[in-house]
Amino acid sequence: MARHCPPEQAKAWDDAWVFPADLWAKMADMGWFAQPYPLDWGGRGGGAAELCIIAEELGHASLDVAMVYVGTFIPGLVIFRNGTDAQRERFRAGLLDGGYRISVAISEPGAGSDAAALRCSAVDRGGHYVLNGQKSWCTGVGLPGAWIAMYERTDPSAPKHRGITLMLVPNDAAGLEVRRTPTLARHLLGTNDTREAAMAELKCSS
Ligand SMILES: Cc1cc2nc3c(=O)[nH]c(=O)nc-3n(C[C@H](O)[C@H](O)[C@H](O)COP(=O)(O)OP(=O)(O)OC[C@H]3O[C@@H](n4cnc5c(N)ncnc54)[C@H](O)[C@@H]3O)c2cc1C
Repeated sequence: MARHCPPEQAKAWDDAWVFPADLWAKMADMGWFAQPYPLDWGGRGGGAAELCIIAEELGHASLDVAMVYVGTFIPGLVIFRNGTDAQRERFRAGLLDGGYRISVAISEPGAGSDAAALRCSAVDRGGHYVLNGQKSWCTGVGLPGAWIAMYERTDPSAPKHRGITLMLVPNDAAGLEVRRTPTLARHLLGTNDTREAAMAELKCSS
């Protein structure tokens, strides 16, 4: 970190609103993105202690540099643990080698700490889903090629903490509007507001 990303470097990236693509590539070369996944899945079998050490060292440069790394395996592990076999295979290579950037979209204007209050909906139209609503604070959604782990209400009649489905949505899906949210610092990844309007051609598995 002292060599590749001292705090002064992190500040320069932040001032310029630049995603540190070279640093990301170096993390990939060192196999860091494979760290949390088990050996028999192609990962490096790391546990919480290793991930905390890496995150802490990255955090000496800046919180946002740490989030560049941490923010990618959080949704990755969700796919690994809870996805279907097909979803796991679909995303495996990119999760292990840093080929994917996946953002998390839980928060909404009326759903923060109380995440189960989320109102964005996904309606099954047979073969595809139509998503509607607004998400807030989606960190890293605006980066090229990013996927969005988007939490959507699929059963409005269920209790509010149930009937929610995680959908994996490409950030260039038709009908999706991404708007940068102004922040003090945190400019490496950027955080964003998204509006989903009739993304009729989405093929998602619940
Ligand atoms: C820079 C940034 C990046 C973010 N990135 C993401 C992201 O990538 N994906 C995503 O989904 N979200 C993201 N978030 C959203 C973040 O998860 C929410 O801000 C957080 O969940 C809090 O929600 P809120 O801002 O609506 O605050 P609120 O929930 O309105 O809380 C406001 C205050 O009230 C307190 N409070 C709330 N409920 C209670 C209660 N029951 N009892 C006592 N006190 C309470 C809270 O502790 C807090 O101090 C990001 C936010 C920021 C600022």
